[in-house]
Amino acid sequence: MVAAVSDYLPHQNPCAQCGCPIPNPIWFEDGPRRTSYLWHCVHCGYKFEAVAFFGQTNDEQRANAA
Ligand SMILES: [Zn+2]
Repeated sequence: MVAAVSDYLPHQNPCAQCGCPIPNPIWFEDGPRRTSYLWHCVHCGYKFEAVAFFGQTNDEQRANAA
């Protein structure tokens, strides 16, 4: 379901080079404690990666509670 996925992704990240807001990342990869997003600015053509770091994963929280 595309709508659910797009709600999950960050939006309007400013370009690291020109500051132009980018509506959506062109690619992302989920890791156990982080998600990497690849942004491509159509205004200046700059591509950059942003990484969101998280604390414990849900699985680790369940393991610690057991
Ligand atoms: Zn840009």
